[in-house]
Amino acid sequence: MINQILKQGAFSKKDLVRLLAADEEERKLVFAKAEEVKQKYVGNKVYYRGLIEFSNLCGKNCYYCGIRAGNKKAHRYEVTEQEVLEAARYAWENKFGSIVIQAGERSGSRYTQRMERIVRMIKQMSNGELGITLSLGEQSEETYRRWFEAGAHRYLLRIEVSNPKLYPKYHPENKKHIYQERLDALYRLRKVGYQVGTGVMIGLPFQTVEDLADDLLFFQKHDIDMIGMGPYIEHEETPMFKYKDKLIPKMERFYLSLKMVAVLRILMKDINIAATTAMQAIDPMGREKSIKVGANIIMPNLTPTKYREDYLLYEDKPCTDEDAEECKRCLEARIHMAGGQIGYGEWGDSKHFKNRS
Ligand code: SAH
Ligand code: SF4
Repeated sequence: MINQILKQGAFSKKDLVRLLAADEEERKLVFAKAEEVKQKYVGNKVYYRGLIEFSNLCGKNCYYCGIRAGNKKAHRYEVTEQEVLEAARYAWENKFGSIVIQAGERSGSRYTQRMERIVRMIKQMSNGELGITLSLGEQSEETYRRWFEAGAHRYLLRIEVSNPKLYPKYHPENKKHIYQERLDALYRLRKVGYQVGTGVMIGLPFQTVEDLADDLLFFQKHDIDMIGMGPYIEHEETPMFKYKDKLIPKMERFYLSLKMVAVLRILMKDINIAATTAMQAIDPMGREKSIKVGANIIMPNLTPTKYREDYLLYEDKPCTDEDAEECKRCLEARIHMAGGQIGYGEWGDSKHFKNRS
C-alpha cells in the first residue's frame, strides 16, 4: 500500500495522511524514497545559514512561545550592531554563504530603520557575498521592501498552523494575531521579490495527522520556496503548558516531524527544507537525521554565547552553551556522517524559486 503510493506522481490528502501514518517498518520506505528524490532534485549539498538571534523582545503573545511578551520571567536582550557585524563577519570568513537574522516581532520606524541599516552594513562588509535571510515576523509591505532593497533576499515566516480554524487555539484573539494577516504577509513577501519560506509546528495539542497533511498541501498550493518546520516543544512559562498531558510523547513528535520532512521532499522536490533546531532538541542527532531524509539547509547558531540562553522559545533548546567554533567543528563531522557535503561559500538558493522565475 505505502509502496504503491510512493510510486505515484501526485498525492491526494488521503495519500499524504497514509504516508504520515507510516509505522516503524513502513516509514523506512518513505525515508528511502525521500532520500532518492533529494539526490535526484537537489543533490547531497547542505547549505549553511549562520543564525543570529538578534533579540528576544517581542510584541506578540503566541500561546506556545517562551519569549512571548507576557512571559515576565524572560530576561530581554538585543544584540548590539557591533556584535551582529562580528557574527556576520565570522559567517563570511568561514564561508557559510548566508546568515539568518531572527527575532521576536517588533514594529516602529526606529526599529525597522535600524534593521535596514544592519542589513546594509552586512552586505557592505561582505562585498555583497553574504546572503541574508530575515525572520522578523509580520511587517508592512513598505518595511519588507526597504529590507529587501537593503540586501535581504529570503524571508521566513511560519504560518505555524495552516488551518484557520485551529489558529485561534494557539494565538490570542486580537488584532495582532490574525490568521489572514499572516497569510497576507506571505503574499506581500512574494510580491516584493523575496524567496518565501514558511512552516508549521508538529505535534501541537488538538492537531491531527489530517491537519498535517493539509499543512503540506498548503505549502504546495502557495508554491512556497523554502520550509522550516519542527516539533512543538512545551515551555513552562506559556499558556499552552497546561496541555502538556495531551501531547504525544516527544519521540513520537520527533518521528512525525521526520516523516513530515520526508513526505514534503517527495511532494515538493526542488524546494529548500531546513533541518531545524527543535529536531535536535529532542534527538541529539535530529538535524542529521532530517538531512538524511530530505532536508538540505542547516542553521548553525552564531548568536553571541552570552545571549543564547535568553532566546528560549522552548525547553531544552540545544547548543546554548557552546561557541560558534565548537558548533562549526561538530556540525561538519556530523553532516559528513549523514552523507551530506557542505556548500561552502554558496548561497544555496531555493532551486524551486529559480525554476519558477
Ligand atoms: N517572531 C518571529 C520569528 C521568531 S519565532 C515569528 O514568530 O515569525 C520563530 C519560530 O519559533 C516560530 O515561527 C515558531 O514556529 C517557533 N516556536 C516558537 N515557540 C515554539 C515552541 N514552543 N516549540 C517549537 N517551536 C516554537
Ligand atoms: Fe513573538 Fe515569534 Fe514567539 Fe510569537 S513565535 S511570541 S511572534 S517570537
